[in-house]
Amino acid sequence: MADIRLVNVSKHFGQVRVIENVSMTIGSGEFMVFLGPSGCGKSTLLRMIAGLEDIDGGEIHIGDRRVDELPPAERGVAMVFQNYALYPHMTVRENMSFGLQNIRTPKQEIAKRVAAAAKTLELEHLIDRKPGQLSGGQRQRVAIGRAIVRDPKAFLFDEPLSNLDAGLRARTRIEFAQLHQRLKTTMIFVTHDQIEAMTLADRIVVMNNRKIEQIGTPMEIYSRPASRFVAAFVGSPS
Ligand code: ADP
Ligand code: MG
Repeated sequence: MADIRLVNVSKHFGQVRVIENVSMTIGSGEFMVFLGPSGCGKSTLLRMIAGLEDIDGGEIHIGDRRVDELPPAERGVAMVFQNYALYPHMTVRENMSFGLQNIRTPKQEIAKRVAAAAKTLELEHLIDRKPGQLSGGQRQRVAIGRAIVRDPKAFLFDEPLSNLDAGLRARTRIEFAQLHQRLKTTMIFVTHDQIEAMTLADRIVVMNNRKIEQIGTPMEIYSRPASRFVAAFVGSPS
């Protein structure tokens, strides 16, 4: 568990500026939601924290280490992708074990961690199935399990609920809240859905057009929106 600190982070693709001088601190153990409309730069910001995109300017710190020059595997964070990216020919157990085998974790330790993650995510009865034999929600839990076994300092989720149908989305939202209560690890959760943000977040970063509009608790954002954009986006009375 660690805090994540961004200092004046910027990014452009070619001539297009995508993130402009963004600074924020995500507290250790905090559930932080990045909320904003499509195209505002949420995924890019998350990918920069994970190390999947270089930054053009600024600094990123995780815990007491500056990480913006480090490769993804050395940053100690785990990203869960929207499309889950599971290996179709491997079982649930193998999907969860694979990343640990790559970093030469002892077999017994892998088995222990996979068993613990399967228990946490209620996947024990599905452990020998392949992704094709699972529902969308179950596949997503496997993707999260693959992150949990790495025992990361933080979890990064990019729109994890957007591929699910409405009913499952509501149920899975609750599972995310429970997961955070159980693990108490720092989590960043990206969404364009204000209800998800309001119900899950300790604090919300409202983004629009490359920049941060406001950072605050759901209550602060809702009752004291810092701009017309925020008021309109979260539906505050004003
Ligand atoms: P969000 O996740 O909030 O929808 P993104 O971070 O995906 O937004 O994208 C922000 C902006 O950057 C968009 O205008 C998008 O088209 C652009 N963008 C994202 N990735 C790339 C890329 N690899 N090359 C060029 N432009 C990109
Ligand atoms: Mg995105």
